[in-house]
Amino acid sequence: MPSASVSKFKIETLVLQSTPFCNIDCSYCYLPDRTSKALMSEQTLERAFSRVFSSPFLGDHLTVLWHAGEPLVAGVDYYRHAFDILERCKPSGVSVTCHFQTNGTLLTQAWVDFLADSSSKIGLSIDGPADLHDRTRKTRSGNGTFQRSMQGLRLLQKNNLPFHVITVLTKESLGCPDKLFEFYVENDIRQVAFNVEEIEGVHSSSSLQSQDSDRQMKEFLRRFLDLLTERRPKLSIREFDGAFHAIVNPKSADYGNPMAEPMRFVSVGVDGDISTFSPELLGTRSCRYPSFAFGNVHADALVDVLTNPIFKEVNSDIQAGIQGCRNSCQYFDVCLGGVPGNKLFENGSFATCETLFCRLAKKAVVDVVLERVERNLGLT
Ligand code: SF4
Repeated sequence: MPSASVSKFKIETLVLQSTPFCNIDCSYCYLPDRTSKALMSEQTLERAFSRVFSSPFLGDHLTVLWHAGEPLVAGVDYYRHAFDILERCKPSGVSVTCHFQTNGTLLTQAWVDFLADSSSKIGLSIDGPADLHDRTRKTRSGNGTFQRSMQGLRLLQKNNLPFHVITVLTKESLGCPDKLFEFYVENDIRQVAFNVEEIEGVHSSSSLQSQDSDRQMKEFLRRFLDLLTERRPKLSIREFDGAFHAIVNPKSADYGNPMAEPMRFVSVGVDGDISTFSPELLGTRSCRYPSFAFGNVHADALVDVLTNPIFKEVNSDIQAGIQGCRNSCQYFDVCLGGVPGNKLFENGSFATCETLFCRLAKKAVVDVVLERVERNLGLT
C-alpha cells in the first residue's frame, strides 16, 4: 500500500481544466459546472506548470490532458499562449505530450494545424452511427451532434492526423455490436476505447443499471471479438488489448493502479484547485468529504497535498477499498482494485469493492477475453 508521506510515484498525467464549459449537453455528462464559461487564467496556468515542474513527483515525461469541459471552446490562440507558458516553465530534460479529449464539433483547419504543429494527441467522443450517437450526445436545444462530430473526424482524416475514438456504451448500444463494428470499419476508425455509461458526478443513474447488463455486456463483447477475428480490420479496441496484455503478461500488474495511487494523476481545476486520484473527483461534491480540492496552485506546493487532512482521509479510505478488493476479488490481479471515483459515486464510499463499472468494464471483459484465450489454446 503506498504511503502518502513517502510516495514513490511520479506524476504521469496532469489534467488541466482550461474551462468547465461544454458547448453540448450529453445526457450522461458527469460535470456539475458545464454551463460555466470560466477560463483558466494566465496566472493559474503559470502557477500550475511551475508547481508541477518544481515538485519532487516530476519524472522524465509528463502527459498533459486538457479535459473536464470541452477544451476546444477556449480557442486555438488560448492554447498557443498556454503552450508558450508551458515551454517557459518546463525544465530541460523533461518531455511533455499534450492530449485533447474533445467532442469534435469545434474542430477547424486552424485547430488541426495547431495539433499537428504541437505534436498533440487527440481523442474524439463519438458513440457510433447517428441513431446511437444522437440519442445521448445532444446540443442544449436537444439536437443531435453526430454530423458536426463527423465533420471533425473527416477533417482529421483529410489531414492524416491520427486520433482515437471513445464510445460510451449504453443499454441501446450493447444490443448493436454489428452496427458499431460496421460504423468503425466504414469510417476507417482504427483505435477505439469503450467506456460504459457510468454513475458519476451529477449523472446519478445509468441505463446499464439492470440485472441483465452483465450478460448483455458479455454478449456484446463476444460478438465484437468474433467480428474482429473473422474480418481482421485495422481496428484496435483498448479493452481487449488491455485485458489480453494483463492476462498473458502478469508483470503488467507492476504498473499499479494510477487512479488509486497518490499523485500519479494530478488534476488542476479552472481556479487552480489541486486534486489527485480519479480526475472526475475534481469539482464534484460528496456529502462524505468537504471537498476533493486538496490545495490550490496559488497557495500550495504539490507536496503540501500529502499533509492535507482531507487528502489523508480520502487516501486512507481508497487504500482500504483496494485492500478489500485484494482480499475478496478473484479479478484483483488484472484489475488492481478499480477506480476510486466509481466506488464513491456508486457505493457512497471509497472503502468499498464491487461497482457496476467494474462488473462491466473489468470483470466482463476479462471473462470474455479469458474464454477466448482458453479456446485458442484448446483448453475448452
Ligand atoms: S473487479 Fe471490482 S471488486 Fe474486483 S478488484 Fe476490481 S474493483 Fe475490486
